[in-house]
Amino acid sequence: MPVYDVIIRNGVVVDGSGAPPFKRDLGVIGDTIAKVGDLSGCAAEEVIHAEGLVVAPGFIDIHNHSDSGIFILPTADNYVTQGVTTVVVGNCGYSLAPLTDKNREFVELSEVEFVKELGRLPWASFRDYLEYLGRLEKSLNVAALVGHGTVRSAVLGTGSLKPTERELEEMKSLVVEALENGAFGMSSGLIYVPGVFSETPELIELAKILSRYGGVYATHIRNEGVELMDALIEALEVGLKGNVGLEISHLKAAGTPAWGGVSRALSIIEEYVRRGYDVSADVYPYAASSTGLEALLPSWIREGGLEGLISKLSDVEALERLKKDLARYGIPEERHADWDKVRVSYTEKHPEALGKSIEEISRLWGVDPVQTIAKMLIDDRGLTGVVVHSMSEDDVSEAVEHPLVAIGSDGSVRKPGEGAPHPRNYGSFPRVIAKYVRELKILSLPEAIRKMTSLPARKIGLFDRGLIRPGFKADLTIFNYYMIRDKATYENPHEYSIGVEHLLVNGKFVIRDGKHTQAKPGRLLRSV
Ligand SMILES: [Zn+2]
Repeated sequence: MPVYDVIIRNGVVVDGSGAPPFKRDLGVIGDTIAKVGDLSGCAAEEVIHAEGLVVAPGFIDIHNHSDSGIFILPTADNYVTQGVTTVVVGNCGYSLAPLTDKNREFVELSEVEFVKELGRLPWASFRDYLEYLGRLEKSLNVAALVGHGTVRSAVLGTGSLKPTERELEEMKSLVVEALENGAFGMSSGLIYVPGVFSETPELIELAKILSRYGGVYATHIRNEGVELMDALIEALEVGLKGNVGLEISHLKAAGTPAWGGVSRALSIIEEYVRRGYDVSADVYPYAASSTGLEALLPSWIREGGLEGLISKLSDVEALERLKKDLARYGIPEERHADWDKVRVSYTEKHPEALGKSIEEISRLWGVDPVQTIAKMLIDDRGLTGVVVHSMSEDDVSEAVEHPLVAIGSDGSVRKPGEGAPHPRNYGSFPRVIAKYVRELKILSLPEAIRKMTSLPARKIGLFDRGLIRPGFKADLTIFNYYMIRDKATYENPHEYSIGVEHLLVNGKFVIRDGKHTQAKPGRLLRSV
């Protein structure tokens, strides 16, 4: 009779497969689930009495941006309190490696917090970055994608260049280097500098590399507004021609002219799945998005990264052109602009603007919205963050409900109290259970759990996590179904979620009786 390190007794097991709940004991030895069954006669170092609690696999956040956050706050409080045990970083085309002379400044200027607290980024290659990430003691597991934008800027800088054949070969070799050292795939962010300057054939060539290594291609597509379908078709072309698993990141239809687009996008995805292609998506359960303020501006003003942006915003003629563009076309993706729906979530230089809309700040300052935008971006060195209330609840529900859509927070590890971040950073996973399972009843609990566990695990290629099975890693979220909920709101975003009673990462307690143990059993996960 084996002696268990941990026994979880009498819990309601929701195993991550989507199968109905069942009542069983769980025995953990070391970092592994050793037994699922009746363990009434067995002893263990630690016993959890889980009567009335749900025992699920730890949640896997397939779309996360804790690249630098995990170094700044390795206890990852705002994620473990959501029941998350693994985050996938390197999304939206942006990873912290590879770095060269061409992009080090660009990346470091985007990582002011990291640089302020920990000094300059101490790596260059993806391998070295993963070494650092592996050595970091952290409370949850981290898996990494390599960002297409970072790879592109490492070779071409941040201008609107097209790679020569040789430069494309260089980009390919950087992607190979990342995959051979454990990256799970590549992401792209086709509204951001420099991904916005790339063309489809470049992406296809890089996707073919992913195919050789079984890596996933996760993409923040070129347009999430009125041109959503065109952007989706481009992503599908890259996936198909590259012969690679395709993940559409944070599926949405942004801006009222685009509303209703999610169900059309989903029926296209369904059609490709019917034909046998590996296509799926993820979503965060909120009707507002969050990004950098600069990402709402036309791409010509963002050429050359932050330096280029700031110099153009300081130039009278460029500012006039920007004013005309925004008046005529609005935010490029949405083809209209309602500056009352764009609220400041991060600013270093203008704390008085935090939480206020661009419209409100403009009234306060007595200037027009374009001048407000320019001033914020110049003073914050391009890093002003915003929350944009641009989606319809119906579109969000459609995505949350759909069986091909996983849950991904699109957030990052946050220090409590800093800025007015999107509540998704604190509440995405509990919110799906509280709102869509318990209140709206549009999802069953096993289906919601599947979207947070086995669905993203399979997509990324994590084959020993995401299910409760003997032999799988003991990442476990044990929560009170009636209590679990998000507490973070747009007004009070730094509120931890409640209801997760115990959380095990690699067999060790990170939350015990509702409290963070400060343990750091998280690992760097590698694809190889
Ligand atoms: Zn994105």
